[in-house]
Amino acid sequence: MSSMHDVIVVGARCAGAATALLLARQGHRVLIIDQDRFPSDMRLSTHLVWHAGADLLQKWGVLDGVRASLCPALTQFSLDLGELVLRGDPPGAKVGAAFAPKRIVLDQVLLDAAVAAGAELREGVLFDDVLREGERVVGITAKNPDGSVMTERARWVVGADGRHSRVARSVGSTTYHEFAKEDGSLNTFAYFSGVPLRGVEFISRPQRMAYAWQTNDDQVLAGIILPGTSPRVARQDTEAHFFAELEAMSPDLAARLRAGQREEDWISTGVNTFCRQPAGPGWSLVGDAGLTVDPITAAGITNALRDADLLADLLHQGLSAQRDLDDAMAEYAPRRDAVSVPLHLFSQNMAKLAPPTDEVVQLFTGLGQDQAQADRYFGVFGQTVSPNDFFSEENLRKIAASAAPSAVSA
Ligand SMILES: Cc1cc2nc3c(=O)[nH]c(=O)nc-3n(C[C@H](O)[C@H](O)[C@H](O)COP(=O)(O)OP(=O)(O)OC[C@H]3O[C@@H](n4cnc5c(N)ncnc54)[C@H](O)[C@@H]3O)c2cc1C
Repeated sequence: MSSMHDVIVVGARCAGAATALLLARQGHRVLIIDQDRFPSDMRLSTHLVWHAGADLLQKWGVLDGVRASLCPALTQFSLDLGELVLRGDPPGAKVGAAFAPKRIVLDQVLLDAAVAAGAELREGVLFDDVLREGERVVGITAKNPDGSVMTERARWVVGADGRHSRVARSVGSTTYHEFAKEDGSLNTFAYFSGVPLRGVEFISRPQRMAYAWQTNDDQVLAGIILPGTSPRVARQDTEAHFFAELEAMSPDLAARLRAGQREEDWISTGVNTFCRQPAGPGWSLVGDAGLTVDPITAAGITNALRDADLLADLLHQGLSAQRDLDDAMAEYAPRRDAVSVPLHLFSQNMAKLAPPTDEVVQLFTGLGQDQAQADRYFGVFGQTVSPNDFFSEENLRKIAASAAPSAVSA
């Protein structure tokens, strides 16, 4: 049976559920479908929602749901560079904390709020193709759990179906700023219990990084990051490989993790990254479907929440006849890219894990002597400071000027 919706959202995790929530709250008729059934976990993520993302969850009134899951607020951040340990606090954040909720928590909090706001959720439904009238997308076809075909029409279709987006393929979205996973990072991580941490810990060494932070269930997510060209390690050797690498970077963190208990299997993965053209006549993409960044900056969820906020606002303007719908949606791509492309390119560059040049050593030396700038550096990750602003020539000159000559040669 076919009925008319204002918006159909394909994909019900952070990007799709947030978009559905915001549109339903504005009174729009929203249908959200997913091939999964919820609550549903998703382990291919290290879960960090940075300060800008936490601020959005707070603005939408759903951060309390994350806190109620006993997911701790993360307020201390350190970056151990070997000879220097930087600490910082992203400036300009309202909540002033990051969170790392397991996806079974975050996605469900958003989805519950979307359904409470009036969105209709259909689970176990596999998107197949878009319906078109001429060039314009006017609905979808999908497969119901019983194998029957579902046909639904809408004024707008949103693909929030992740990096392998079938919606993107159906609408023929073009790809740009594209990088193979070999040019990015290889991330190996697991959950541990019984591990004391000193806030969110990052460790950076030439060609390597490590990290650890708290998530739900009194557990810690800990991982190592190597270049994407690193040889893959056999599953049974992953634990030994992880600890050998971590030991070389931080014997202290390795010892704390060894004294704890690993709670789940290892995950080891790299991803192809890209921007996709995020909108066309009758359709748009949000979250990983439209923009997949290297996980090294843990930016994907915060990006997804920010893009959902922008997309829902523009769609609301068009659907409520404040403006022509296509005129409103023409703003989506340039406004998304103005924020996201610099972050995507910064992440990709960082994922090379290149040994520090003299300029980089000078930069970090300067940050060690200027707490406000160190805070701004952490703000690039917290997404409260644009990489373009932080790495502008003017700002780098200011930081260099504050580095004492004796420290520069360290
Ligand atoms: C190793 C790794 C670590 C990461 N760590 C972090 C981190 O710490 N912090 C962070 O912010 N980001 C991280 N990310 C990125 C983050 O996981 C993604 O940005 C995020 O999951 C994107 O959410 P989404 O809602 O766009 O898509 P997804 O989470 O991929 O959800 C897509 C949904 O669409 C549904 N779907 C797909 N196809 C169909 C179909 N044909 N029909 C119906 N439904 C469909 C799926 O079932 C799924 O529920 C990491 C990624 C990786 C690979």
